Amino acid sequence: MTSTTMFYQVEMPEPQSHLFEVTLHISHWKKKTLNLKMPVWTPGSYLVREYARHVQDFKALSSSSNESLLNHKIAKNHWQIITEHQTDITVKYRVFANELTVRTNHLDSTHGYFNGAALFMFIPELTKQPIKVQIIPPKSEWKVTTTLTSVPEEHNTFIAQDFDTLVDSPVEVGQQAIHDFEVLDIPHHYAIWGKGNLKVKQLIKDTKKIIEVEAKIFGGLPYEKYLFLLHLSGSGYGGLEHKECCTLNYPRLGFRDKDKYNRFIQLVAHEFFHLWNVKRIRPKALETFDYEQENYTTSLWFSEGATSYYDILIPLRANIYNRKKFLENLSKDITRYLSIPGRNVQPLGESSFDAWIKLYRREAHSDNNQISYYLKGELVTLLLDLLIRNKHQNQKSLDNVMQILWERYGKAEIGFTPDNLQQVCEEVAEQDLSEFFKRYLETTEELPFDEYFAPFGLRIKPIHDKETVPYLGIKVQAEAGKEIIKFTEAGSPAGIAGIDPNDELLAINGIRATAENFNERLKDYHPGETITITIFHQDELLTVSATLEKPQPTRYEVVPIENPSETQQQNLAGWLT
Ligand SMILES: [Zn+2]
Repeated sequence: MTSTTMFYQVEMPEPQSHLFEVTLHISHWKKKTLNLKMPVWTPGSYLVREYARHVQDFKALSSSSNESLLNHKIAKNHWQIITEHQTDITVKYRVFANELTVRTNHLDSTHGYFNGAALFMFIPELTKQPIKVQIIPPKSEWKVTTTLTSVPEEHNTFIAQDFDTLVDSPVEVGQQAIHDFEVLDIPHHYAIWGKGNLKVKQLIKDTKKIIEVEAKIFGGLPYEKYLFLLHLSGSGYGGLEHKECCTLNYPRLGFRDKDKYNRFIQLVAHEFFHLWNVKRIRPKALETFDYEQENYTTSLWFSEGATSYYDILIPLRANIYNRKKFLENLSKDITRYLSIPGRNVQPLGESSFDAWIKLYRREAHSDNNQISYYLKGELVTLLLDLLIRNKHQNQKSLDNVMQILWERYGKAEIGFTPDNLQQVCEEVAEQDLSEFFKRYLETTEELPFDEYFAPFGLRIKPIHDKETVPYLGIKVQAEAGKEIIKFTEAGSPAGIAGIDPNDELLAINGIRATAENFNERLKDYHPGETITITIFHQDELLTVSATLEKPQPTRYEVVPIENPSETQQQNLAGWLT
């Protein structure tokens, strides 16, 4: 019996129309109906994006006679074709692609980029079998870059071993600049779309160091080739991890300034680390992807948080920046964490579980009732690393946790449960961690930074700027000539007074206030003083009163304690070298 085959062709004859034209040839179909489904999300980006909303002009034809076949939609992402006795079927549809992010599709007069989940439909019975794909660029000078395996002798034609691989292998079509380099004898490539102020030599040199440092943690590189797909855009920022590739979107002029460049290097370190942590070392719920609905897990705090911790640590280990810079980065993250009131409302495990409805769907109130599993996850993994290092005088660390997870779960791609993860951490720490996991994952108990920093001779210092600003609890931003309130902290003086996000700020004590002079204006008053604030609230002019409170720290810094002992100095050196 001949088995059913799937062959996709992707054309883009008029790229300026933003329409990809997709043709699917199905051969040797044996059933009377054929179901085609479009994924609603893509792995790595935990939001139902409803990719089917960009599909248009769906047609089903008999491949032999070219006659239309009866078809209808069963659900938002589900087309059903009545095939009767037809064995060879051609499906055609177009996909509108004008969203330039790492997890969507973008096609314009300068290039084409697509993610499998946002372009290809799957046939439920055939997700485990190979899928052939031919890409047909609109111009001879446009080339195709992807990590899919090429079919010899067939131009721009590739094989994905299954639907997961097709989804995990984004494709770039255009005049992208290709730069090849080797690390540990394995070929790596940058494919760069767009112009920018980056220095390719430096970029490759630093990327090599990142790869070497990460390979050292895991004992080698688990692939035969790797692609960094870099989109240089106006102001976009983002990354999406794949097994043999990552897509990076970065501001085209964000490479000369040292801090911005370091941020890019962190993005590279982050997405590259994911090729182990989350692409292969996967939470149980992500062991097999369900492309049609949310895949719930409480473990994203580790998949994203540990990756975020390593993304600030790896550039230090790679000598791209120094210990001072590392501590500055850590201080910024701690400041951000301690300024988000939602940390007192949402536990970390819940933040992971609800990624689908919260982290990816932020709104003006979000900081009041949620905490990012990236941010708190990073800081909880920091505490875990410090706990292990302190217990074992730096002879063991979070690296050992990553290594065991890699050996036990990652290599064979067996999903880990929250219990498995805790057990591996306990094995390395050689102590019971149920209290640690319970407190920091299931409750909102404050993270005791100083307790964990102390053995390393560090502490957290709250910093107040020279002239302190009494606390009101709003953030204001100028927008189209108006002074708009963007955030009101729940329970703050402004919150109690009924000031809401989107209200327009007009005056403090009867005198015009702006986003620019707002903090300066508050400095004229003292904590305990009551001021009036005039706003447009739903277009209604209101004057409300608020009693100012004592200033909050402007930021927090991780600083050395006075007179650290020799052990503390050794601990610190063992951690940060
Ligand atoms: Zn990530």
